[in-house]
Amino acid sequence: MPNAEINKTLETDPGQLGSVSPYKAGLTCSCPNCGKSPLYNGLLEVKDRCTGCGFDLAAVDAGDGAQIFVIMILGTITTLLGVFLYNLGLSKWVLLLALISFVIVGSVWMLRILKATLVALQFYHDAGLGTVSEDNVEAANNDSDV
Ligand SMILES: [Zn+2]
Repeated sequence: MPNAEINKTLETDPGQLGSVSPYKAGLTCSCPNCGKSPLYNGLLEVKDRCTGCGFDLAAVDAGDGAQIFVIMILGTITTLLGVFLYNLGLSKWVLLLALISFVIVGSVWMLRILKATLVALQFYHDAGLGTVSEDNVEAANNDSDV
């Protein structure tokens, strides 16, 4: 069987999809299909296709979901850390450098994990855009008549 057919079979086999825990794939930043190959090209760019199993990752769109979680969670942690460090009596420059370094490293680290988790959850739950069927249109028209 040629590689293209194997990849097609892997992508369309419902037993294969979902065999990897989306949380494990997210924590390890790996492919949501095979759970082994890395998900990213570089720091935060999702690959178009998995290099291990050939799974098509081009349709991935995690949107701004991961960024919102990072802003909320890391903002809270940074504020608490800032208050703690300020109460230790550190100079303002040391405090500023420590918090900026913490935010830069922490946000990239958290973005990688949360974005990979959201991508894996999309594939695990087969999420996609909504569709309009004839039944829904007919039901909406009947509701508007009442
Ligand atoms: Zn893979």
